[in-house]
Amino acid sequence: MELDSLIEKNFKITARQKRALGKLGLKTLRDMLFYFPSRYENFSERKNIIDLRDGDKTTVYGKIVETERQKTRTRKMLSRIIISDFTGTINALWFNQPYITNILKVGDKVALTGKISSGKSGLYIANPTFKKVDSYEDLGGGEALLAVYPETRGITSRWMRFGAQKILAGISNADFHDPVPRNILKKYHLPGLHSSLVYIHTPQKAEDAEAARKRFAFEEIFFIQLKRLKERMEREKHPAFSIEISKKEMGDFLKIFPFELTKSQKKSINRIVEDLGKKTPMSRLLEGDVGSGKTAVAVAASYAIVKNKYQVAYMAPTEILARQHFKSFIEYFSQLRLTTKIGMITSSECRKYPSKVSFERNKGDGSTRISKSQLLKWVENGEIPILIGTHALIQKSVKFKKLALAIIDEQHRFGTRQRAVLARDKSEQIPHLLSMTATPIPRTLALTIYGDLDLSLLDEMPPGRKKIITAIVPPGQRRRAYEQIRHEINKGRQAFVICPRINEPDPNKERTLNVKSVKEEAERLKTEIFPEFEIGILHGKMKPAEKEAALEKFKKNETQILVATSMIEVGIDIPNATMIIIEGAERFGLAQLHQLRGRVMRSSRQPYCFIFTDSDSEKTRERLEALERAKNGFELAEYDLKFRGSGGLSGAKQWGVSDIGMEALKNIKMVEAARLESQKILKQDPEFKKHPIVLKKLSSQKTKIHFE
Ligand code: ADP
Ligand code: MG
Repeated sequence: MELDSLIEKNFKITARQKRALGKLGLKTLRDMLFYFPSRYENFSERKNIIDLRDGDKTTVYGKIVETERQKTRTRKMLSRIIISDFTGTINALWFNQPYITNILKVGDKVALTGKISSGKSGLYIANPTFKKVDSYEDLGGGEALLAVYPETRGITSRWMRFGAQKILAGISNADFHDPVPRNILKKYHLPGLHSSLVYIHTPQKAEDAEAARKRFAFEEIFFIQLKRLKERMEREKHPAFSIEISKKEMGDFLKIFPFELTKSQKKSINRIVEDLGKKTPMSRLLEGDVGSGKTAVAVAASYAIVKNKYQVAYMAPTEILARQHFKSFIEYFSQLRLTTKIGMITSSECRKYPSKVSFERNKGDGSTRISKSQLLKWVENGEIPILIGTHALIQKSVKFKKLALAIIDEQHRFGTRQRAVLARDKSEQIPHLLSMTATPIPRTLALTIYGDLDLSLLDEMPPGRKKIITAIVPPGQRRRAYEQIRHEINKGRQAFVICPRINEPDPNKERTLNVKSVKEEAERLKTEIFPEFEIGILHGKMKPAEKEAALEKFKKNETQILVATSMIEVGIDIPNATMIIIEGAERFGLAQLHQLRGRVMRSSRQPYCFIFTDSDSEKTRERLEALERAKNGFELAEYDLKFRGSGGLSGAKQWGVSDIGMEALKNIKMVEAARLESQKILKQDPEFKKHPIVLKKLSSQKTKIHFE
């Protein structure tokens, strides 16, 4: 057997199983071994053979006295063994698992776990889970854990377990090259690769499984950090344009804002200006709750670049946001005496500010629609210093003359690859990188996935904001909440209603049955609750133009209520919307709920957040109440991690951390250890000359990302 050979070459699998494996992304034996159980069942209960009764679910220990393989009348392959303990003998039967008799031999001591049934020739155990045991003498007492895998239809945990056992037995220890350096394993008392694989698939006791999971969690976190730190090292090998701007120049520019910057905004801008002055590229993350004023910081950084006659690329995750940023930039930069040209590129249109035709009433912002080729020409010859856009910004055809700064809003929405593409210029210089995020994540996750970035935190809100009133509304109190909302709308305010789904619930999926859909809910609100108001909808399946129209109507207060999916969690700025109603709130993480309510914290008016929940459970209530107490999103992210576990961190997958890696995030010590060790390796052996296996693993990860 070889780790990289195909599963189908080593196992007899049906077409159905093959499909199921394909769905799980499992092709090779290695894939199978690294498909880890999600939990374990404890079968520590054991019985002597003489005490067995029909219907028991238990474990029996014994020595194999006979094995046999035969075809049944229905042409099924039947493997049969007989085991005996001190008290009697019993048959164990497996259908269609012919390899059983290759693994289990007469004389082996085994533990069999399964259901006892009664047949013509007495009791038997059908398709039991088996485990070879070493000593017949100490069979008593110990735990028997059975791995349970996250399954899809067509593949059972039993099959996965057998498979893992067979592979582990069929491949020599020496073929497993442990990517974690031995000294690190030793230092943190982590088991080696081969033992860990045995432990994780077939643990003898809970501690074994625990140790194995810890090891794999460490490995994952360690490699993510190593990769990030290495990326940063690579980036810093390239020069960056050094940007000069005096305190006075910047100070004068900051006066264009109609408000006084907060302390943390000023501090962030200072740090950024310092970074930009260096000849090594900046790698900075600006973290701040929704509404904390990240745009102003981005505008200031862009000014420094423009002033030095270089270029800025600003990438936003959605078209709506790109347009909004485009408008904000125009608003601020138009106040400068020298007009700064600003371009916008999305997949649906390209625009330029200022418009040549000065009387054009186009959109009222002084910008005009232009062709893509024209825009790209101006970007390439350097005439447009600021280009704002969506993913369209990183198409091959977009070339800058002197790109000195790349700004990425909500960067976790972009893959590493896209980030890398944007951060690459034709010239030798690579752009400074400013990432911005409002996604509150726990410190351990930040350390891991943003391990390569310096951090600036906007931890205070602009002054004059009222503290949001958050109400948790159980089913019985809806009426009252709606009355309050009506009262506010009658005073001229507007409300968002957030639903977890767009369409009719899927009748095949029971779980989603009571989830409110956007369309349904808009309909219901109009007919049953608020017939006197206009209600709009907004969701991801709408065309960009439709979305913008819906948003425009809401902005103009032509619709008073906007029913939307949680996609609006990022960045829309509508000061008159002071209420947000969140349906099915128990399905959201606290950090996500916090982000959602941030939508309405943009004006000086009193904002409200109504958390509607269908759940009466005390636990849900307790968890949601944290929203009333917490000071900021980061605190809530820590709550999420604590109360819901790593699975409760919404969108964990998009950060490229697996379930097992997420387990590590509860353990700050482990995350810090992984960081320390990866820093050490990079310092002592930056090219991994002494760590070839580490290098191999890192490069294989790179190719994966390349093809994503
Ligand atoms: P986010 O961090 O979510 O991107 P924005 O940059 O969109 O936040 O800012 C939210 C709102 O706060 C905007 O309307 C902006 O004009 C305003 N704002 C930003 N900084 C300040 C400040 N220092 N004082 C008052 N208002 C501010
Ligand atoms: Mg923003």
